[in-house]
Amino acid sequence: MAQDQRLAGKVALITGAGSGIGLACAKRFAQEGAVVAGLDLQAPSGWAEIARGAPTTDFFVADVCDLSAQQEVVAELVQKHARIDILVTAAGVATGGPVHLLPEAEWDRVINVNLKGTFLTAKAVLPTMVAQRAGSVITIGSVEGIVGMEGGSAYNASKGGVVLLTKNMALDYAGRGIRVNCICPGFIETPLLHAAVGAEALSAQREKIRYQHKLGRFGKPEEIAGAAFFLASEDSSFVTGQNLVVDGGYIAGLRVGFAELMGLA
Ligand code: NAP
Repeated sequence: MAQDQRLAGKVALITGAGSGIGLACAKRFAQEGAVVAGLDLQAPSGWAEIARGAPTTDFFVADVCDLSAQQEVVAELVQKHARIDILVTAAGVATGGPVHLLPEAEWDRVINVNLKGTFLTAKAVLPTMVAQRAGSVITIGSVEGIVGMEGGSAYNASKGGVVLLTKNMALDYAGRGIRVNCICPGFIETPLLHAAVGAEALSAQREKIRYQHKLGRFGKPEEIAGAAFFLASEDSSFVTGQNLVVDGGYIAGLRVGFAELMGLA
């Protein structure tokens, strides 16, 4: 075990670990010496790469909307590793459309996966953390859970819910030594982003979104994994109930081009 592995001896469960942000968290946590368990609708091709670097890796094919399936995952993990120290809830789906055009079924799908799924995963894992009197829960919200976006109705409502659910869990479980924090990413280069605004027909809108990231680019999944590592590690031992916004300045304020006029672009 390398001495600089800051999560050595920790057991982490990561939902949405098959892709994007969840997969990047799994890779980072494995590099830091954690036992990593991934959960997603299907196993990713990159999982073998993680398994090579990590002390132990498991992958569970399960739906975050299924409480009993996740309780079985937790039971298996606890039987194998005796504890779960870190939970990252990164499973998620996106949608678009204003309320009057959005089908009710689409609203239900997005709220179910993003918000209820976060609740159900936490519900499955928290009894273990309560019993061991320790844990770090990291939910994945979004800048769209803090500020609105045209056409974002269901997705933004789901992420706003995640932001406040996180704060409530932080209050409820602090007495048991469990920290609960949310990461609110800006727009991150993942398959989800590509599906949302990758189409050629949306190139002008995609460019306007990119421009609002004051650092001038979309984020990388590894940059969210770095924030998750901080919240998982002892470096954040006094941090709970927070939104850690990792967005390249997206919600810092409106960018209209004065920086260019001032020669600061
Ligand atoms: P991603 O690459 O699509 O990864 C999300 C993963 O979750 C996918 O593997 C997806 O499987 C899985 N998933 C979907 N529904 C599930 C379910 N019911 N049960 C289990 N797994 C399920 O997307 P990402 O960009 O990494 O997103 C991760 C999280 O970050 C999401 O909550 C997203 O809302 C949030 N986020 C993303 C961005 C961004 O710009 N990328 C910005 C802010 C917040 P399928 O591919 O089969 O659906």
